[in-house]
Amino acid sequence: MFDLIIRNGTVVDGTGSARFKTDVAIKGDSVAAVGEITGEAAREIDATGKVVTPGFIDLHTHSDNSFLIDPYADSKLTQGVTLELLGNCGMSYCAPFNDNTLDEFRSRTDKYDPDYTPDWSDMDGYLTALEKSGSTINIAAQIGHGSVRRTVMGMEPRMPTPEEIDRMSGIFADSLDAGALGMSTGLWYSPGSYSLADEVIAVTQPAADRGKLYSSHIRSEADDLSGLFPAHAEAIEVGRRTGARIQISHVKAVGPKFWGRGYELIEGMERAREEGIDVAGDQYPYEWSSTGFSGAMFARWALVGGRQATIDRLADADTRAQVRADVTYYINRNHSAEGCVVSSFPPDQSLEGRSLQDIADEWGCEPEEAALRLYEQSDGNYVLHSMELQDIDSIAKWGLMSIASDGSSLRDEGPLSSGKPHPRNYATNSVIIEQFVEQRGLFTLEEAIYKMTALPASRLNLSKRGRIAIGQKADVLVFDPANVKQHNDFVNPHVYSTGMDYVFVNGKPALENGKPNGELPGKVMRSLDD
Ligand SMILES: [Zn+2]
Repeated sequence: MFDLIIRNGTVVDGTGSARFKTDVAIKGDSVAAVGEITGEAAREIDATGKVVTPGFIDLHTHSDNSFLIDPYADSKLTQGVTLELLGNCGMSYCAPFNDNTLDEFRSRTDKYDPDYTPDWSDMDGYLTALEKSGSTINIAAQIGHGSVRRTVMGMEPRMPTPEEIDRMSGIFADSLDAGALGMSTGLWYSPGSYSLADEVIAVTQPAADRGKLYSSHIRSEADDLSGLFPAHAEAIEVGRRTGARIQISHVKAVGPKFWGRGYELIEGMERAREEGIDVAGDQYPYEWSSTGFSGAMFARWALVGGRQATIDRLADADTRAQVRADVTYYINRNHSAEGCVVSSFPPDQSLEGRSLQDIADEWGCEPEEAALRLYEQSDGNYVLHSMELQDIDSIAKWGLMSIASDGSSLRDEGPLSSGKPHPRNYATNSVIIEQFVEQRGLFTLEEAIYKMTALPASRLNLSKRGRIAIGQKADVLVFDPANVKQHNDFVNPHVYSTGMDYVFVNGKPALENGKPNGELPGKVMRSLDD
């Protein structure tokens, strides 16, 4: 007796193999049978005309605090995502905590719930807090280099001492042993930007030794700091010297000097793979990116010492003119000031959804000056027209490019519905199916499902997720690809995608007949065999 039989569906099993019509049975939290099934079940679903696929695995998310705020953060569930990997871009802002790091947590959590107070200080405590809060989908954490460096060294712009390297590596090892499934760096953001490759290699070694993933937001995605191609090569060098599996996050080519050259990044990864380095990447399917004011508009020198130091610097007229001159460069790499749109600005929400050009016109100043005035009030967020479709496509077509949102689990009501966040939070996977597969035919449905299931599972080194096969955990979707639709845009981002008929998480329904059912079947994954 099975718990559930999904009958007459067309299975796209996640491996990239051609679809086939068959039944799928679930018992407990696992797939128990695939084939023509004669047995009985407590429940049966007729999937005639639908596909049955593994749940989508989103390797690049920033949902670190989402489920603590609201366990029904369903912007991913409604797209068919059943597992999110948190702690990307070097920012595991929920662990570890000490006096050096708490303000990073506050700055990311206050806009949702200023009263939320964490009662833990390390990765084990954080994972326990996630378990207590519950979640509709599965979650796995990464430990972030920026957060660990901040814990040990504060925001000091210097190389670490050997003793500080040891302390950092120790926190990485402890966090991975407590159940983090990977680690990340954000070498563009301070304090990650103060590190050299040697330091990154030292802190990546514990992940390499444990078969866990290294996710890299590389040092530069344009012609700043190291520059795009050296930054890409640096991530590969970490793999060369540690043996870690390298995941280059949100692969992109930013700015006029690199538009049209996205394919060269793929060539670089293929050359490294021929050498035996296990490097691959992930991508979100938009020409627009999103990041904080400080990450988007300032040369790194202007940010040394933290936010208050930057504000003090801007009070000096000469320095302000210098910073403003750099802002021109940052605006141009987003096509124009029309391509820089405020997505979150807690002091004045009426500015959310408006471009720098628009705001500058109202304030009677240049867009560069408007960018500085905005930052002086708050470190909000932009969405930025930093990429071009030709590169999105050439990068997306690579067989080892996973689909990942770079977004968070959010909700269309309650605290997580604030601001005008990037539409990718609600629609990444839906855009792939609706636009890249159904409308544009950039790749087949089988290839798209692989990029969202077995491929990311193999990057993470998971043994029991990402495929429809006996013994795999029953994260299972039932849907008609022709019905998958995204409904949001940059002006109205908080709108759920539609088209998923059923989403099962660990064998239990989380979404039925197109709607989340209010259950919390998600699990906090602490092992590669969970
Ligand atoms: Zn990033």
